[in-house]
Amino acid sequence: MPDIKDNLNRIRQEIFQSCLKSGRRPEEVKLVAVSKNFPEEAVREAFSQGQLIFGENRVQELVGKKAVLPGDIKWHLIGTLQRNKVKDIIAKVDLIHSVDSVRLAGEISKQALKAGLLVNILLQVNVSGELTKQGFSPDELLEYIQEISELPGIKIKGLMTMAPQTADSEEVRPVFSGLRRLAQAIKALNIEGVEMLELSMGMSDDFKIAVEEGATLVRIGSRIFGPRKYWGES
Ligand SMILES: *Cc1c(COP(=O)(O)O)cnc(C)c1O
Repeated sequence: MPDIKDNLNRIRQEIFQSCLKSGRRPEEVKLVAVSKNFPEEAVREAFSQGQLIFGENRVQELVGKKAVLPGDIKWHLIGTLQRNKVKDIIAKVDLIHSVDSVRLAGEISKQALKAGLLVNILLQVNVSGELTKQGFSPDELLEYIQEISELPGIKIKGLMTMAPQTADSEEVRPVFSGLRRLAQAIKALNIEGVEMLELSMGMSDDFKIAVEEGATLVRIGSRIFGPRKYWGES
């Protein structure tokens, strides 16, 4: 088993350093430990080291883990959410990072009303414009954000993006700064109920750059838990 304690400490240190480097306060940046494909024992180990927020990309896996793991854990859904799964998840998550269409936002709203919940969401943006990436284009988001904000039962807390996979991690910087600028542009619209408090960006390979560019949530899996294949093979 990878040394989760050491890995967590190292990442916390690196986040701290990136904050210092960019004049940010370390408490502005929260670590989301991405536990997808890793067993409950890995989550328990990280939790025992003070890690509170865990990210999963599949509804079933999140629901299964939540049922057996400590109730203090905050679960974030970070992966694509299908509309027919919304009702299974909304009561179980503190934040959904991956709202990528008006229809999905509408379904979350509908189910939230039924359940009497206020669901925190981030809107996923495809900043890089890659065809394979989910999310609103920046222009689409500016067009639809007012409409989404008027849906009852949901609270827009900020934006999320995935950077392209690239050998040169500096190539992702414009994607992260682009998300930050988009959040600023949305803030300037002063839409009621829309908070641009959170920017979810940065993963194992690029979180330092994301922190330098304003990330408030970094989603880190393999740097904490090891390569995802490891667990399947053991
Ligand atoms: C898997 C995943 C991550 C974490 O990836 P690592 O490279 O292992 O840190 C972050 N965000 C999303 C949306 C993911 O699916």
